[in-house]
Amino acid sequence: MTGTQDGGTYDAIVVGLGGIGSAAAYRLAAAGGGRRILGLEQFELGHDRGASSDVSRITRLSYHRREYVELAIEAQASWREIERACGETILTITGGLDLAPPNPAESIDDYAAAMTAAGVGFEWLDAVEVARRWPTWRLDPDTRAIFQEAGGIADPERGNGAHQHLARAAGASLLERTRVSAIDDRGGELSVRTDDGRRFSTGSVVVAADAWTNELLEPLGHALPLTVTREQVTWFEAPNPAAFDPGRFPIWIWLGRPSFYGLPTYRGPGPKVAEDVGGRVTSAGGRTFLTDPDCLARVETFLAARMPGSIGPAVRTKTCLYTLTPDRDFVIDRLPEHSGVIVALGSAHAYKFAALLGTLLAELALDPTRPAPGPELEPFAIDRPALATSTTNLATTA
Ligand SMILES: Cc1cc2nc3c(=O)[nH]c(=O)nc-3n(C[C@H](O)[C@H](O)[C@H](O)COP(=O)(O)OP(=O)(O)OC[C@H]3O[C@@H](n4cnc5c(N)ncnc54)[C@H](O)[C@@H]3O)c2cc1C
Repeated sequence: MTGTQDGGTYDAIVVGLGGIGSAAAYRLAAAGGGRRILGLEQFELGHDRGASSDVSRITRLSYHRREYVELAIEAQASWREIERACGETILTITGGLDLAPPNPAESIDDYAAAMTAAGVGFEWLDAVEVARRWPTWRLDPDTRAIFQEAGGIADPERGNGAHQHLARAAGASLLERTRVSAIDDRGGELSVRTDDGRRFSTGSVVVAADAWTNELLEPLGHALPLTVTREQVTWFEAPNPAAFDPGRFPIWIWLGRPSFYGLPTYRGPGPKVAEDVGGRVTSAGGRTFLTDPDCLARVETFLAARMPGSIGPAVRTKTCLYTLTPDRDFVIDRLPEHSGVIVALGSAHAYKFAALLGTLLAELALDPTRPAPGPELEPFAIDRPALATSTTNLATTA
């Protein structure tokens, strides 16, 4: 322990203060009971090296499996709670359009079945009806579409800021520029070491480190089969800006191969469009911030065919990291070998769920007697067979 400073004792420590970790820090602090909660972030809060730094992410109830639909309903309610607590608008509901060409990457019928099972209403639309409602679209007659009215935009810049502000107001200590170098478990006695030579003792650790997750888990003997890709989103000029107003134009997902998604104009120069899993494999430490002209060309080709005349030149492209499990399902679970360590990994489609995941993680972290998350989180178990493989299914789930 020479040279290591005692950083104090905390009931729970969150490692990583992106979208999910900030939510967990707030929910832990809000649980009250005089508990001491610490959040540690290696960079400055709001940095853009991870996955949650942008002004818009898609939120939607339309999902391919019932459990996601049900979680998405709860997650939107959680976001509304955060909005009320901080007095800011985080969700902007625009409606959501899922568009499936023949031979889609994901079955649009699965979306319909999952929403039906969860009691969520939606409309089937054909290509003519889509073009009637939103004349920007030019679809082939065999394109099938679903419109679900609760789709929209979740704002990470505001959402993360709100969670961090509320966490501090509820008594949590959030330290930025404080990288965790290791998590130690000595017979159930947990501590976290930081690069600046401090050691913090704790009852539980929530690892919300996304692309950096394995740097923390590998020394604990549990590496996950993760693939990190450098993705990009592009804002385009719109010759008729009113056509992409969030009050008029819905978020959309093209379930084709490749798959694309887009959002109306929101706190940016125009509509935002991206290819889902269009980026190259990289690593959190080895990534660059260079944009990929081939990926942009694929987006532009798609837009030229599907929204001819409605989209102008690209104005800005921003890169961001996807961290993918082989089945693209989340990991929300305790480490089997170290039950005080809880892993939260969103597999590149979790921003919309962050406000709810914070609550679920806080419940796990504050109740060491609870062996595992409840049945609703069973698909996200860390010991599921898909995590014993090393191949990633790159099907769409923005
Ligand atoms: C281009 C793009 C588009 C997306 N679109 C959508 C969408 O439309 N809808 C949706 O729901 N989701 C979407 N996602 C996915 C969503 O953004 C992520 O799932 C979510 O933001 C992940 O949050 P996180 O907190 O796990 O990760 P991050 O925000 O990356 O946070 C992890 C944090 O941990 C910190 N950290 C790591 N290691 C350490 C350490 N050792 N010590 C201290 N701190 C550490 C990092 O610095 C980072 O701040 C998209 C992602 C990308 C990249």
